[in-house]
Amino acid sequence: MKKTLVWLRNDLRLEDNPALFAARERGEELLVVYIFHEGEKGDLSQGSASKWWLHFALQDLAERLKSIGGHLLIAKDEDIVGCLASLLEESGADAVFWNRRYEPEGIKIDTEVKQLLRKKTIEVQSFTGGVLNEPQAIQNKSGNPFQVFTPYWKNARQCEVPEPLPAPPKMKGIRLNSLSLEALNLLPEIHWDKEFYTNWEPSRTGAEARLKKMVKGKAMDYTATRDTPSLDGTSCLSAWLHVGQISCREIYHALRKQGSEVEEGYIRQLYWRDFAHHLMYHFPHSVKNSLKKDYDLFPWKENEDLAEKWRRGETGYPIVDAGMRQLWQTGWMHNRVRMIVASLLVKHLLQDWRVGLDWFWDTLLDADLANNVMGWQWCGGSGADAAPYFRIFNPVSQGERFDPDGTYVKTYLPELAQLPKKYIHQPWMLGELELATYGVTLGENYPHPIIGLKEGRQQALDAFQKFKQLREQ
Ligand SMILES: Cc1cc2nc3c(=O)[nH]c(=O)nc-3n(C[C@H](O)[C@H](O)[C@H](O)COP(=O)(O)OP(=O)(O)OC[C@H]3O[C@@H](n4cnc5c(N)ncnc54)[C@H](O)[C@@H]3O)c2cc1C
Repeated sequence: MKKTLVWLRNDLRLEDNPALFAARERGEELLVVYIFHEGEKGDLSQGSASKWWLHFALQDLAERLKSIGGHLLIAKDEDIVGCLASLLEESGADAVFWNRRYEPEGIKIDTEVKQLLRKKTIEVQSFTGGVLNEPQAIQNKSGNPFQVFTPYWKNARQCEVPEPLPAPPKMKGIRLNSLSLEALNLLPEIHWDKEFYTNWEPSRTGAEARLKKMVKGKAMDYTATRDTPSLDGTSCLSAWLHVGQISCREIYHALRKQGSEVEEGYIRQLYWRDFAHHLMYHFPHSVKNSLKKDYDLFPWKENEDLAEKWRRGETGYPIVDAGMRQLWQTGWMHNRVRMIVASLLVKHLLQDWRVGLDWFWDTLLDADLANNVMGWQWCGGSGADAAPYFRIFNPVSQGERFDPDGTYVKTYLPELAQLPKKYIHQPWMLGELELATYGVTLGENYPHPIIGLKEGRQQALDAFQKFKQLREQ
């Protein structure tokens, strides 16, 4: 009887799991393993919010495996090769299967593991499990990677996306000593996570419920509703997708049948996710440094005080502060608002995009290296297909456009709830006395703007001019 070790990472599911499926085809006895490791350089280390999600995703997976005769072995080890080697020895398994990951540090570890295990005549196989198409499968006519989304998408959408695979109906789980989930210490000691419990169901059932809503009509409305942060207009599937409790292929095939509107709208976003992986794979330097290398010369103005006010949602710009509070309370932020808060940080406040990236990394439940890096570099101007530096989002007009009656702002900033909608995005336009009648005193229960709109814009443009000179030197 052939025994196979299945090494799970960001693919914590039974359905459409090519490594698990192939291992089950090979033989009934499976050792299913999750090794918690932080990684040397931090690309693979998880933020606090992601760890919260991971805890429940592992718990759910362990129960689901048990229901079909399997068993989840949890380990914690920075020496991945050593850990896998001793598990193979103990279990008598002679093969290791996994689904590929694309973080530069992950690729490095996986390559080493592959080489070392093969030397020990262990069969090693890796599969495509986390993307619609492999990053290296999509190339331009000259055989190079794409750096602009639209041509990437035109090319990628011609490639077939394999149908999702079924979950194994049953298996025989090999039982070895496992760490308890609690031993990983994934949940925070201070209960800043209490609203996560009311907002999220971090299980496979939770993902299926969200997908069902999309299938039942939400995907058809997506283009009309996706930019209004007060509406539940997007799928909110990002955190499930990040840990792989649901696969992008499952979502793709569940919705594609709905026709071109859904393809051009919702499914296009799944290709943005693939594009982010494509960029991370082909330009690994971009996870730490500017994708466009000359942007490393950009004259950021480090200022911890400004950065901290931004993190706390105390910038005095209501749409920005509401976004930052939504992030802190719920572990998620609407995409439109992510762009607005990021723009204020990197442009008006001239803080390095990595300052924002780090905060998102720690507080987002869906923190994902590829998407986070692409999002921040897009906003900061240094990424592929990025917003040009001189295009500077105005947080007042963005607020008026995407949250016209202030519903979103009022949800997260109850201190502004009584303001008339004309002033909800710029309370400072009202006189002190009038503001007081609405229960607002600037500088006391709501901050003055952290920087003037004109001043911030000018500062950003001046920095860009300086950058151009530095680049030309
Ligand atoms: C500064 C910044 C940082 C970001 N950081 C992350 C991050 O850490 N993790 C993350 O998953 N997304 C990130 N995004 C992208 C996007 O905001 C989220 O994917 C989206 O808001 C998740 O909500 P949803 O699942 O309802 O998305 P939907 O609109 O329902 O989209 C469906 C799926 O498509 C993918 N997707 C959608 N928009 C994008 C996009 N712009 N880029 C890449 N993939 C996309 C996501 O996987 C998402 O779950 C970031 C965007 C910005 C501007």
